[in-house]
Amino acid sequence: MSQDRSGLLPSSGPERCGCCGMVQFEQLNEEKVFKDPVHRYIHVRDRLIWDLIGTPEFQRLRRIRQLGTTYLTFHGAEHSRFGHSLGVYEIARRVIGIFRNRGDWDDSETMPALCAALLHDVGHGPFSHSFEKVFGTNHEQFTQEIILGDTEIHRLLSRVSADFPKKVADIIGKTYENRLVVSLISSQIDADRMDYLLRDAYFTGVSYGHFDMERIWRVMRPHGDQIVFKFSGMHAVEDYIMSRYQMYWQVYFHPVTRSAEVILTQILHRASRLYRSGFRFKQMPDVLIRLLEGEIPLADYLRLDESVFMYCFQVWQDEDDAILRDLCCRFINRRLFKYVQLSRDQLNADAELTELFRSAGIDPDYYLEVDSSSDCPYDFYRPGEEEERLPIQLQMPDGSLHELSRESDVVRAITGKRRTDHKLYYPKDRVLNLSDSLPEKKKICALLHING
Ligand code: CA
Repeated sequence: MSQDRSGLLPSSGPERCGCCGMVQFEQLNEEKVFKDPVHRYIHVRDRLIWDLIGTPEFQRLRRIRQLGTTYLTFHGAEHSRFGHSLGVYEIARRVIGIFRNRGDWDDSETMPALCAALLHDVGHGPFSHSFEKVFGTNHEQFTQEIILGDTEIHRLLSRVSADFPKKVADIIGKTYENRLVVSLISSQIDADRMDYLLRDAYFTGVSYGHFDMERIWRVMRPHGDQIVFKFSGMHAVEDYIMSRYQMYWQVYFHPVTRSAEVILTQILHRASRLYRSGFRFKQMPDVLIRLLEGEIPLADYLRLDESVFMYCFQVWQDEDDAILRDLCCRFINRRLFKYVQLSRDQLNADAELTELFRSAGIDPDYYLEVDSSSDCPYDFYRPGEEEERLPIQLQMPDGSLHELSRESDVVRAITGKRRTDHKLYYPKDRVLNLSDSLPEKKKICALLHING
């Protein structure tokens, strides 16, 4: 709410306590608050956090949607990574507060943890999913570069101490030696997931996805280097797992969102191929040229946001290339592809369709696409996988630890079950517009189960 940027005035680095040498972080004269629909208020008391929020690199997150193309399915889903990042910070802050009150927390880890929570997504690009697929970039790598490279964020973090930026980067990269701090930001139940589930449910307007977060905070306990949950809070944890399960299939993998993503990906593929073949675009922003040339320096990456892409899609509707023009027009006006469900053994069945599309004059490289989604809402037993897959442990009344699915029938029922879904996307309008005298039309309609 109160967002005057006086916090950006140069402030001196933190001081050290005369007797113990511990870093004393400067507090703001007055607490700042952001009004937030999920957490009601987000409280900022530390000057460093306030200054980080004010950097251009962090402000850029306002122009990147949290859920990419989901707004074309759920019109409320316009929320940004900026709000989500503040939310993750706020959850981390409150959980740390609870741990501290119980004497369960090492205070020297507070600022590294809060900075990591705030900055964990700072490297995300516009429409990350499609973007990374086409250009081979990696948002996690950019997050590291932003924290460790030549940026405002890096300058602010370095004022604390020379090794402070590295600490923050290591927490986000999950290589930090204090695993408790890492698991607060990334684990099966972490500040990131808690925020996005509630935030995405709120903004999409769906009725699932809610769970009692405050109850979960109350039953969280540091135990050695991990966070465990008091047995009495098992039902709140079950609720959280179920909400994750529901959100994946009802929101994150929604077939219409995936259709928009397929089109977006094809636009980027087409633009990239055209550029490489020497096509002369009528409109092409400089910042995109570096991207299309393959090596994008950090400074240029930071100039990319969804408004740059939306502008391109808008003006490319007038380009001379028919495919690029059509795909952009589809995305801007939401004329999406339709789909048919494929079973696993039908996955290669599109070979015949590919040929039929080609001979009917619809380029299958851009207009026929299999998209697969899969997730496991609570999948703890996958040997050799990342830290995130560590099981959720319940602390029993006698102090022993029991893995969640051992105690919960509900969780056991969905444990380790990976559901995979394959869909074949295609432009139904193009197929219907084919001339009835074309022999391919009938065959295509039959294969795609189109009547008429
Ligand atoms: Ca996140």
